[in-house]
Amino acid sequence: MNTSPLAHTAPSTPISDQSPHPAAAPASASGTHQAAQPGMVHPSPVLSARRLLKTYGTAGTTTRALDGVDLVVARADSLAVMGPSGCGKTTLLHILAGILTPTSGSVHHDGTDLASLTDRHRTRLRRSDFGFVFQDGQLLPELTALENVILPRMLGGTSRRAATAEAASWLDRLGLAGMHDRRPTQLSGGQAQRVAIARALAGRPSVVFADEPTGALDQTTGQAVLQILADSCQDSGASLVMVTHDAKVAAACRRTVTMQDGRIAQEFVRPAAGAAATGITGADR
Ligand code: ADP
Ligand code: MG
Repeated sequence: MNTSPLAHTAPSTPISDQSPHPAAAPASASGTHQAAQPGMVHPSPVLSARRLLKTYGTAGTTTRALDGVDLVVARADSLAVMGPSGCGKTTLLHILAGILTPTSGSVHHDGTDLASLTDRHRTRLRRSDFGFVFQDGQLLPELTALENVILPRMLGGTSRRAATAEAASWLDRLGLAGMHDRRPTQLSGGQAQRVAIARALAGRPSVVFADEPTGALDQTTGQAVLQILADSCQDSGASLVMVTHDAKVAAACRRTVTMQDGRIAQEFVRPAAGAAATGITGADR
């Protein structure tokens, strides 16, 4: 079952261009200067990708979608992945989430190599530890909002009663009280995305993956949905990995990496409010 989410708010301080910092830094690079405050980033990585290579197609017509990506996602952190169409963002997201297998390289989640898991275990991991929010929400049209949220939980073994209580609480919290019984066609785009966010977060995932989550919404609605996604991830301690081509959307995340031709080209880290801006450039590869 697919689903996915976002990050938290950050000051829109211009990013300076000092402090070169390799985008492909080992484990704790992004969290080292964060104080231990609520909502702050824990340095131990929840996801760690090394030397990811992904080619599509067969001999003669191959596309190298990822060309040596190293990336670490810290616990409870928020990361935006930016770059032009075709640069490999979705491929990277799907490999980090265990939906796609890399041609070579590895992804570790909480220290476990995803390649060491059977398909069944990877599916279970996706259900129990990952949440997904995609551009169009991907709600099942024949189910109500509430049913869309409880279905993946029940597939994961949660009882209907527990899943219903949990789903109702998330829907209410996301401003959808009174809309539990509506089907997706009876919801606005922003409301449907909030149902998708409720679905992504209901299982208390350690990571929420979002691929262009506001791409189908108007700007105002998109910003509101984004804020809800970011705040919800932060409140529940989930890391957010969000693909976007919109810099305003990326600004909701603490960290941003930009991709170019299957590689990470740059990294930016937004400091905690009140701290000096930390500009980071150069994926020296
Ligand atoms: P982005 O999300 O940044 O637009 P993608 O990860 O979707 O980029 O795609 C990266 C490259 O891989 C593109 O050149 C795209 O055409 C190619 N690609 C993606 N998926 C497939 C596929 N299933 N088969 C063949 N080529 C693909
Ligand atoms: Mg894409």
